[in-house]
Amino acid sequence: MTTYQGKCHCGNTEWEAKLEKDQQGHILCHCDTCKYLSGSTFTLNQIIPKANLNIKKGESQLKRYTYYGESGKPVHCYFCPNCTSHVYHHQLVMGDDTIILRTGMLEQGLKEFKPAAEIFGKAKLPWEKEVAQTFDTLPPS
Ligand SMILES: [Zn+2]
Ligand SMILES: [Zn+2]
Repeated sequence: MTTYQGKCHCGNTEWEAKLEKDQQGHILCHCDTCKYLSGSTFTLNQIIPKANLNIKKGESQLKRYTYYGESGKPVHCYFCPNCTSHVYHHQLVMGDDTIILRTGMLEQGLKEFKPAAEIFGKAKLPWEKEVAQTFDTLPPS
């Protein structure tokens, strides 16, 4: 288990995340929601236990945006109200103790992590090259 430091763009929010060896990589999500929320073609994520994320600064100021996922259950997105960086998402369908962390904002993670998988490949744009094993939606559990 390694601890990674993260911060939002403006620096009002700071956090650290403990990641197991097999979580030290980016899961690229190509879903249409990620396109809108990031303004790009995919986001960088990892699924971790909620207890392994420690928001050291700015947690009480975080704002929440909620949308409904493909499961019909809510997805809560927690973001810095000043700069709008998304710190983590909580998909209720995955239970109370599991969150989706944005690995693109972990200082060492962004430099060191490799693509581990690509999800929602069905929504991937045709000019994007495959960089990891790609699943149409989610990997079979
Ligand atoms: Zn910020
Ligand atoms: Zn997505």
